[in-house]
Amino acid sequence: MKRISILGSTGSIGRQTLEVISQFPDRFRVVGLAAGRNIGLLKEQIIAFRPEVVSLKNKEDANLLSKELSTGKVKVLWGEDGAEAVAAYPEADIVVSAMVGASGLKPTLCAVKSGKNVALANKETLVMAGSILTEEAFKNRVNILPVDSEHSAIFQALGNNKREFIKRLILTASGGPLLKLSEDQLNNVTIEMALNHPTWKMGKKISIDSATLMNKGFEVIEAKWLFGVPPDKISVWIHPQSIVHSMVEYIDGSIIAQMSIPDMRIPIAYALSYPERIPLNLNRETSISSFKELTFEEASFSRFPALKLAYKAAEEGGTVPAVMNAANEIAVEAFLQGKIRFTDIIRIVSKVMELHRPLPGNTLEEILEMDSWARKTAKALIS
Ligand code: MG
Repeated sequence: MKRISILGSTGSIGRQTLEVISQFPDRFRVVGLAAGRNIGLLKEQIIAFRPEVVSLKNKEDANLLSKELSTGKVKVLWGEDGAEAVAAYPEADIVVSAMVGASGLKPTLCAVKSGKNVALANKETLVMAGSILTEEAFKNRVNILPVDSEHSAIFQALGNNKREFIKRLILTASGGPLLKLSEDQLNNVTIEMALNHPTWKMGKKISIDSATLMNKGFEVIEAKWLFGVPPDKISVWIHPQSIVHSMVEYIDGSIIAQMSIPDMRIPIAYALSYPERIPLNLNRETSISSFKELTFEEASFSRFPALKLAYKAAEEGGTVPAVMNAANEIAVEAFLQGKIRFTDIIRIVSKVMELHRPLPGNTLEEILEMDSWARKTAKALIS
């Protein structure tokens, strides 16, 4: 029996994780849940999964939930401390890190320091503090298991092969909902258009990041840290069908790919069951027609400037990736609020990166300091 805590239980990955868990009550038990402000859904999850500890973002919400639950069997916490308590909960064997954006960093680090294996969906954590997180994971002898579909694919394609056998990693990208638009059309992209992803159903933040391809840029940095492969050995190929989830090319010319229908429950289940596999019920068949046409094309930097920025950040390291991430969070938020145009998102991120004076980023304090500088600077550029 694996005991699981989920950070971000009411989000897209959190909900799908609980769906996988509900299929295997003999294998998995939920001990902790941390959510944001969705009290209603968290309450349903508490009733269905009976965790021992939960946390919400705000104190008022936590008080409200405590009153509604009345039984007092579950401990209700709140805030950053609450999320960290869920992450470090002694009963948990594995922590699913699925909060959105930079808010996931501290609780994820806390899980690793408490000796928990982490199923990582919150890629921003590795983007911001990859060296700190991987070092702590090594020190505490815990595994960071990828939930991101591309990295799960690479993890599976790597198997027991030694790192020195890798020629390069090939990350695939659907290209998002705006792949076929001209530069002119990109200027007039609406929020609905950008959110309408062709192959994956996801939360808002990651959907916008997929439309700009900043998400793929983050994934290059994520791959660098997860697999210890330098950015110049990581390629991005546009593959609109989202069937090949990524590949590893070896020095002997072999390429090993992982394929499946696009369904996040597959990489979630693998991260939870690793090193075993479980008979997942996806209520949908993988048919031969899904594999009828698979196309690949190199992703161009001129078409996707976000990718260029991310490679630069990956090469430079230090506080650069954290600054890129923070500026992106602010710009995406502004776009979702209708304050800026779609093409302004990457323009703002690029400008903030230009203004940034990079630090080595060896400590969390330094990274968080630059994170808040970048947020302030991005906000000033927007208004
Ligand atoms: Mg992905």
